[in-house]
Parts: sequence; C-alpha cells; structure tokens
Amino acid sequence: MKLAKRALTIAPSPTLTLNAEVTQLQTEGYAVVNLTAGQLDFPTPKHIKKAGIKAIYENFTRYTPTAGVNQLREAIAQKLSKTNKISTVSSDVVVGVGSKQLLYHAFQVLCGPSDEIIMATPTWTTYVEQIKLAGAKHKLIRLKPPFILTAEKIRDALSQKTKVILINSPSNPTGAVIPKSELEKIAKLAVSKGLIVVTDEIYEHLCFEENHTSIASLGKKIASQTITINGVSKAYSMTGWRLGYATGPSKVIQKMIAIQSQTTSNTSSISQMAALAALTGSQMSVRLAREKLLTRRDFLLRKLSTLSDLRLVKPAGAFYLFVSIENLIGKKYKTSEQWCQELLKKEGVAVVPGEAFLAPGYFRLSFAASMPELKKAVKKIKNFIKNG
Ligand code: PMP
Repeated sequence: MKLAKRALTIAPSPTLTLNAEVTQLQTEGYAVVNLTAGQLDFPTPKHIKKAGIKAIYENFTRYTPTAGVNQLREAIAQKLSKTNKISTVSSDVVVGVGSKQLLYHAFQVLCGPSDEIIMATPTWTTYVEQIKLAGAKHKLIRLKPPFILTAEKIRDALSQKTKVILINSPSNPTGAVIPKSELEKIAKLAVSKGLIVVTDEIYEHLCFEENHTSIASLGKKIASQTITINGVSKAYSMTGWRLGYATGPSKVIQKMIAIQSQTTSNTSSISQMAALAALTGSQMSVRLAREKLLTRRDFLLRKLSTLSDLRLVKPAGAFYLFVSIENLIGKKYKTSEQWCQELLKKEGVAVVPGEAFLAPGYFRLSFAASMPELKKAVKKIKNFIKNG
C-alpha cells in the first residue's frame, strides 16, 4: 500500500515514544528512575477534579460549540486580559484538544508551501513536524547556552520567504526564558517586517526568576500580529484532560475554529468544566508546584555542578535541565543518544537525549519527579560518569 508523502516523512514524537518505552520497562518490573516526563508529578487539584465529576453527573456530556462553551471562552479572555495583559474578547478565543492541536491548526491556517518559519533549536520537535505537515519550511537558529533567542539572531535568519517567528518561552527543552527587554526587540522587529508571531506559552506559570511576559502584551500592533497559544496541561497537572486555548486576530482564530469543526469538534465537555474551575478557582496549587520545582531545580544544580564533565545552565522556567555532555561523548559513547541508552541500561535512569530536540551532545532531565527519585538519579548519574 502506497502511503501519502506526508505520512512517509512524519516522525513520531520522540519524547512520547521514550516515555512509553520507560513505562513499559516499569510495568515489566524494572526499577527505572523516569526523568523523561513532560508533566508535573502532582495529581490534578481536587477542586478541578470535582468540577469534572460534577459535569458528568449533571449530564454535561454532549457536544459543545466547537470553540468551547461561552463561559470558558469568557474566563480565558479575562485571564488573558488580567494575567497576560493581552486585550482580547471571548469570540477571539478558541479552546481545543491541548495546545498541541492549536499549534497544528495555527500552522495550517498561516503557512503553506514557500512559507518559512523561523524558530530556535534546541526545540520541541513537534513544531518541526507540524510545520512539515503544513507543507511549509522551518529555519533553525542554533542557540548555544544560555539558549536565549534574540532579535538580532532572528534578523540574521530572515529571508524573503519568512512569514512567521515561532517563540517558546519558557522553553522546552532548555527552560530558557526570553527576558522582557528582548521580547520588546523581537516585537519591534516583527512589527517593522510585518511578520506573524506564534508564541507557545504553555510553561508561563513555571517561571522562577522573573514574571512571564506575553509578547502580545507589548503593544496593539504586535498583538494584532500574534497568535498566543497556551493551555491548562502544565500549570494544573492536567495533561490527560487535553485542553488548550489560543487567541489572536479574529481572521486567524475563526479559520482555526473552522478546521477544528471539521476535525475533532470541541474538546471534551467534561474537561472544559474542569478547566473553568482551574482558571477561575484558587491558584494555590500552581504556586506550590512552582515552589517545589524551584527547590528541586536548585538541588540538582547544586549536586550536578560538582561533576566537571557536565555543563549546566540554570533554567529560568519550565521543569527541565538541559545538560551538555559534549565532554563525555566521542570517547566510549559516540553520541548523546548512546550515552543515554547506556545510562538507562546500566543505572536505570531515563533521560531524553538531545537528538530528540535537534541538539546532539545534550540530555534533558525532567525535574517533575519526587525528591527521593531525584536523589537516586544524582547518585546513579555520578556512578555512571565514574564507571561508564
Ligand atoms: N508546547 C510545549 C513546549 C510542550 O512541551 C508541550 C508538552 N510537551 C506542549 C506544547 C503540549 O501541551 P498540551 O498538553 O497542551 O498539548
């Protein structure tokens, strides 16, 4: 059977694949410290779960409008206005099946053959695959530590075909946060060149150094050229509920809704009620999660920085440490992929090799894991570096 070209070239998500493999190993009884997770290790807060259960018992279990129930779109518009300082209205908000789906729809609406999207690497490779699915081209800016995307680097990468600048701050996998002063420069550049900005702000609540800034908050003009994508997955430990949202110019959002109406329709009605509780209820769980993550981040930085073969950059956000092992590869292990495989085999610690983020020579360690697990991991990594 001959498959379509797009099916032949699509690569499955490396992080989800690795996570599934590790879970399988654990099911088979192997003791693995799993530091591959892209999700918080805390349960969804009780009041959010209750709202979902209530929705079920009240028979709120049918189709909703494609873009989400009005009450939720209104709450999101208010959250975006108050927290993110993005002035928007509920009719310019779309709720979808996770931010991943909304990113896909945004690229489908904005880009086609001959369009180029500028993005930075190390990167979450979903962007690359989604851009390919839209038939467009991605142009990579290769960042070195501290992995901050700058306006200058974007300017250097511009071409006649550039249509979109993609930003992800805090970043997966580096945890890098683009400072507000740099976002202002990027906004100025985008406005002067008439470029669209797609911004993935899924880790916004997990900033450790300075408060998150949304690029669309930096002026009316940049707001009119920006599609802001976010969701409840990371902040509220709701990855399984599958709920994301986006806002931006009406013209773009309406077409994203049209695509959604012909593909998935609305996301789960139950998840919508849970997300409403998440966004309008107590934000205590988010604060606590951030505090815990900060303690874990600092613990890892303290412990791992004593290993001279590792090069660490303090992540200002998200829950990943992106570690250079360039000093360790090319000897016994030729690639970071091989190094990570052996770490798993010999010490039972699972981390994601940099190859999965188009950045060989690194590994990503998720600190969305308990302190005892992290302590175990540190010992085992030390052991592996010492004994190989
Ligand atoms: N953006 C980034 C940068 C991510 O890391 C992830 C999850 N791995 C997503 C988006 C997708 O999140 P969601 O659950 O909202 O689809």
